[in-house]
Amino acid sequence: MSETINRPQAGKPGASFERRNPITGEVASTSRAMTAAEATAAADRAAAAFPAWSRSSPTERRTLLNKAADAVDARAGELIEIMVAETGAAPAWCGFNAFLAAKMLREAAAITTQIAGEVIPSDKPGFLAMSIRQPAGVVLGIAPWNAPLILGTRAIAVPLACGNTVVLKGSELCPALHEKLAEVIASAGFPEGVINVVTNAPEDAADVVEALIVHRAVRRVNFTGSTHVGKIIGRLCGENLKPAILELGGKAPLIVLDDADLDLAVNCAAFGAFMHQGQICMSTERIVVDNKVADEFVAKLAAKANSLPVGDPSKGPVVLGSVVSLDAVSRVQTLVTEAVGKGAKVVAGGEATHTFMQATVVDHVKPGMRIYGEESFGPSVSVVRVDGEEEAIRIANDTEYGLSAAVITRDIARGLRIARRIESGICHINGPTVQDEAQMPFGGVKDSGYGRFGGRAGIEAFSETRWITIETETPHFPF
Ligand code: NAD
Repeated sequence: MSETINRPQAGKPGASFERRNPITGEVASTSRAMTAAEATAAADRAAAAFPAWSRSSPTERRTLLNKAADAVDARAGELIEIMVAETGAAPAWCGFNAFLAAKMLREAAAITTQIAGEVIPSDKPGFLAMSIRQPAGVVLGIAPWNAPLILGTRAIAVPLACGNTVVLKGSELCPALHEKLAEVIASAGFPEGVINVVTNAPEDAADVVEALIVHRAVRRVNFTGSTHVGKIIGRLCGENLKPAILELGGKAPLIVLDDADLDLAVNCAAFGAFMHQGQICMSTERIVVDNKVADEFVAKLAAKANSLPVGDPSKGPVVLGSVVSLDAVSRVQTLVTEAVGKGAKVVAGGEATHTFMQATVVDHVKPGMRIYGEESFGPSVSVVRVDGEEEAIRIANDTEYGLSAAVITRDIARGLRIARRIESGICHINGPTVQDEAQMPFGGVKDSGYGRFGGRAGIEAFSETRWITIETETPHFPF
């Protein structure tokens, strides 16, 4: 990412940093390079706004979140323009981001009356025991650049619905977009201080993030990003006893069984691997295919991959646009070259012009090659050939990651049996590994992190469960 960022005077109050368009190299945005002290001040503002906001009614919060969704819809054009400039993403992906962000806000609006507790039976006479859910405090959300509207919204929508105030720490690769997103959401009429944004230059990230995590008023942290940084965040949260949701990297397997509909398998594989140039945490990174159907499947997938147009989306319709940086292209190419040196075979793509990389399929990938285990986070997918169901499950689980997975089979019971044995937070039968909806419990296991966004899981994550009792008779004491 170094070639796209310039930091004139970062780290000093009032400093700024630039983000450059990965395609043109022009300055896409100039944002505030906030210091740790300025980040602390943002958390202070969130803390000051918390008492009043935490007492707001469910209907007040619902109304504002629905208005925020309308605002995202109405101003999608502005958001898309900044996203294209800062991340190089194709407008279609940016449009989908805005669409899902608005849906997430509407889903959050819908749950404001569902943040319920329960009455718990007690053995004590004249005793009413309840669990209730209360707002937790200030929620810190840290979101990445790859699906910035979806993940920026996910970091704050349900926390707001639960009556928390929020600080969104934007990505250094799309700081203006995260700032604009917060502004658009806040324009619905949220009170001053309820939504706060921190932007920082890359070299200040560690200080800024630590200042926010240790802030006394911050009671929950959610982080979406790499496993490497996720471990740092997890450690800091552990030391400061702050509950965290960590949504980290992935190496999603797509299992193609011997009875699979191969056309369906190819469509799932191509969509899962190449949507947004493979820069999605759920991207299909490994295709685990039964030897009985491997030749036919690989031939069909290679033909499909070779047919996908690549190029600058501003110059005409393409399926694959720019990846986020030249560094990202060279990382993927290094992984592919190393695998080829150890016996793998590129059956589609492999070439790149500037930040435009072809849809790349690498066959005969084996353990011991870096691409077998490392997240490529780019438009390459590995094919690992196996003999039978048991080996397919073993290879699918032979990874440190565990976010998404998929199984393609004509036998649904067999698919379910296998899905239950895959070590991942998410598994789809006869669908791609890339899928997301606001109400679903989203999250991973192993090095893909812990905790869940979405649906009831989100309510549990972003509210505090209390035990409250009322004595309706004079209690009996033993002495
Ligand atoms: P990243 O981990 O490099 O950066 C994320 C954030 O970490 C940035 O905001 C940065 O400021 C902060 N950071 C960097 N160094 C830090 C430090 N030393 N201490 C504290 N904070 C620090 O991730 P990225 O490149 O922005 O995103 C790509 C990664 O995100 C991929 O691995 C991808 O799989 C993952 N991802 C996961 C999900 C999910 O839901 N599981 C979704 C999207 C992306």
